[in-house]
Amino acid sequence: NKKLHSSIFEHEDKLLGGLLSSRFDQDSCLSRYEASAYRKQSNYKPSSYLISRLRRYEELHKRCGPYTESYNKTVEKLRSNEKIEEASDCNYLIWVSFSGLGNRILTLGSAFLYALLTDRVLLVDRGVDMDDLFCEPFPEASWLLPLDFPITEHFKSLNQKSPECFGNIVSNNSSLSSSKLSSGYVYLHLVHDYDDNDKLFFCDQDQSFLENVPFLIMKSDNYFIPSLFLMPTFQQELLTLFPDQQTVFHFLGRYLFFPTNPIWGLITRYYKSYLQQADETIGIQVRVFDTRPGPFQYVLDQILSCSLHNDLLPEINPNESFTTSKAQNSKAVLLTSLSSGYFEKIRDMYWEHPTVTGEVIQVFQPSHEGYQQTGKKMHNRKAWAEMYLLSLTDKLITSSWSTFGYVAQSLGGLNPWILYKPENETTPNPACTRAMSIEPCFHAPPFFDCKKRSGIDTGEIVPHVRHCEDMSWGLKLV
Ligand code: GDP
Repeated sequence: NKKLHSSIFEHEDKLLGGLLSSRFDQDSCLSRYEASAYRKQSNYKPSSYLISRLRRYEELHKRCGPYTESYNKTVEKLRSNEKIEEASDCNYLIWVSFSGLGNRILTLGSAFLYALLTDRVLLVDRGVDMDDLFCEPFPEASWLLPLDFPITEHFKSLNQKSPECFGNIVSNNSSLSSSKLSSGYVYLHLVHDYDDNDKLFFCDQDQSFLENVPFLIMKSDNYFIPSLFLMPTFQQELLTLFPDQQTVFHFLGRYLFFPTNPIWGLITRYYKSYLQQADETIGIQVRVFDTRPGPFQYVLDQILSCSLHNDLLPEINPNESFTTSKAQNSKAVLLTSLSSGYFEKIRDMYWEHPTVTGEVIQVFQPSHEGYQQTGKKMHNRKAWAEMYLLSLTDKLITSSWSTFGYVAQSLGGLNPWILYKPENETTPNPACTRAMSIEPCFHAPPFFDCKKRSGIDTGEIVPHVRHCEDMSWGLKLV
């Protein structure tokens, strides 16, 4: 039975094996202290090198963070549009809020790792609600970009055509040097529609030009970490940080993303009401990329086929009204979806008929928001709470192509069963496949050999970077 650990303070894994800093005020972020009571202990351990690099990063962030002397000096240069002549004391990576919540979580994690690798300080554009959703991850210094940062109003208009865009700069300049920059910052366009020039971000030669640029401003909707593992500059460091490559987002996610107290309330009330008492919990994340409202029979058939054939849920006995089987186990299904149709059908199925095993199946769905409403606070709170609740389940089924599911699986350390993407409104056969690893998929990786300056299959270079199960051209760490 899933009793909460009797005293959260007795739980030995409270700081996740040293992953988390002990220098925090508890009340400001309850989830940081209570989360471990809701989770099974992770199967994975962070490397001591990762732990020491995180502590080093925290020091850097404290020294260079908002309104420190170094920050003020560097911002002043940006404000007065000074040419970059000497390397500045602190360099920054500004992550611009963009896209759905799952995407934002994955790209912010990617941005943090890139900042860590390049000794930059990560600052977060708060967009509508970043400060509402996540606790501050670094002790004694904020990660939020100050509201009086000089060029915030340009963020919206930055795009591939902007003169500050990295892709533009590298295509126009044969001999690159940051001292030739017209402004004190470079815009990195790592959005799915980026072009071959923008993709040179993933080439060592072109990276070196960025070294002395004090402010990098990044927009992305992709989990781009797998491609960093293919860059000679970062390769060795990454392998030392993550000796088990499939744990990258598992650790980054658990280090960075703690729900704020209101969202922690949503999570813990739901967990205690519906999941805690079950012997086993099954998460089913349903994301249908069909513009019509649904629900669709072919999707329902797919969910059931995947659950039944992989023994995640028991068959029903359609001819019996009673079961004589004595099994007393209960399973709670946590289903998340924008529509309520799948939940209702599965719940009714287990109400109207007994299971062949005698198991009791309870089916729950926290919300049915109808459609994506990224600009709304409560909508995003619920989305975050649901990703987190899915990550607390014992077994997980996810949907292809969905970053919402990737966040749940990586945070939970769960190897999901992935529902194949249906084509022509037909249930795929088989309905799902077991994931190779707990990592998210990079949906828009470059296919470029930086040395030879020609195309290459980047999923075939090293054994730990492979094509994804749910997207044949994507890349994931395994
Ligand atoms: P992706 O589009 O599946 O990769 O995931 P994103 O999280 O980036 O964007 C989808 C957005 O749609 C979410 O952030 C939510 O706003 C909304 N959404 C999709 N599925 C669900 C769901 O099951 N529950 C809730 N509450 N929101 C959802």
